[in-house]
Amino acid sequence: MSNGPLSTSLFALAKKYIPGGVNSPVRAFRNVGGEPFFVRRAKGCRIWDVDGKELIDYVGTWGPAILGHAPLPVIEAIHNAAKDGVSFGIPNPYEVEMAKLICEWVPGVEKVRMVNSGTEATMSCIRLARGFTGRDRIVKFDGCYHGHSDGLLVAAGSGALTHGRPDSAGVPAAYADLTTVLPYNDVAALEECFEKMGHEIAGVIVESYPANAGLILPQPGYLAKLREITQKHGAVLIFDEVMTGFRVAKGGVQELENYSPDLTAMGKVIGGGMPVGAFGGRKDIMDMLAPDGPVYQAGTLSGNPVAMAAGLAQLREMEKQQGWKRLDELGAIMEEAVLDTLKQTGRNYQWYRVGSMFCLFFTETPVRNLTDAKTSDLVSFRKFFHHCLDKGVYFAPSQFETGFISTAHAPEDLARTAEVVREALLAL
Ligand code: PMP
Repeated sequence: MSNGPLSTSLFALAKKYIPGGVNSPVRAFRNVGGEPFFVRRAKGCRIWDVDGKELIDYVGTWGPAILGHAPLPVIEAIHNAAKDGVSFGIPNPYEVEMAKLICEWVPGVEKVRMVNSGTEATMSCIRLARGFTGRDRIVKFDGCYHGHSDGLLVAAGSGALTHGRPDSAGVPAAYADLTTVLPYNDVAALEECFEKMGHEIAGVIVESYPANAGLILPQPGYLAKLREITQKHGAVLIFDEVMTGFRVAKGGVQELENYSPDLTAMGKVIGGGMPVGAFGGRKDIMDMLAPDGPVYQAGTLSGNPVAMAAGLAQLREMEKQQGWKRLDELGAIMEEAVLDTLKQTGRNYQWYRVGSMFCLFFTETPVRNLTDAKTSDLVSFRKFFHHCLDKGVYFAPSQFETGFISTAHAPEDLARTAEVVREALLAL
């Protein structure tokens, strides 16, 4: 899309003062070419850029906007909370209500602590796993992204993968050496790893449904194997549900699949669009945290009253609307349209969906891990992305991301999207 004059001049100015012109790399559109547009306003499933262009949005602020943008109950909750003060650094009632709700909804969580981002949540889980076990090694999976803390930026997904830097400069080799990376969905590799160094492994961190290299689903039995092998070797199993938590179901993947991890990292949806993360899990592990235990973790703005009020309002509204059921219905409508279009256009591209999360891989190879995901035709993806954007449909600007539907997407919006997707595929 050639951007309007306001986006163009804002980006020129941004590049002068902000590295790459953006505050998070994937926003720079490097992988798809062109320049990012700037948003003026967003409501429901739509965003309007500063030049007045209207788009149907499937990024949803990268996951949090599960009710669509600026849902009334969330905005009202923010106003009401803010009137009483925006931060105290002293315990407030919202924090307790949020902690109780998370413990009631998420099967593997007995105690929880709030933080300000998904990165903080996973980083704290890792420290806790190490403190609890007295071991140093962490196992992660190829293409899974867990935020940008040092030890987890090894073979990472999302923007790190999009920009060809799955490992980052500035991470000491000695630190990265403590992270072992395995291919996802590979039971033999997992068994071999634990056989060799099970006694060193503090924890295994996994995106319960990996959604940062596109969307990848576990093969039957894989999550059960993870649960069993970590238990056997005394390693802490960490589900990163920053993306999937409160989205694929009230209690996340662990509710759907019926496996409770020892620790869970959460974020996105629980903040209602405010900067929020959380981590929680088994009581005996969580009680290792300061002030009760020796593992230190803290935050000036953690449990912020405005952020807690926003998140609580969003979660209560989802519950009231039975939002998860609705999202699955909307996801099924989109799925039917896409599969139909693929058939009509003779493309055998791989489509994956769980509830409101989806990904169309531009490859004919079934995708079970990062190696498969990388067989995608990125040139075709790029053309597809720009065609859709030109026609008013905004998908994530990278093949290695997941799309999100919100409860604010109406069947008419999905029908218009299907039309645009069809045109875009035919134009390839
Ligand atoms: N874990 C997962 C699974 C994520 O998708 C993300 C962000 N996309 C993070 C962790 C990091 O969260 P944040 O960007 O809030 O630090």
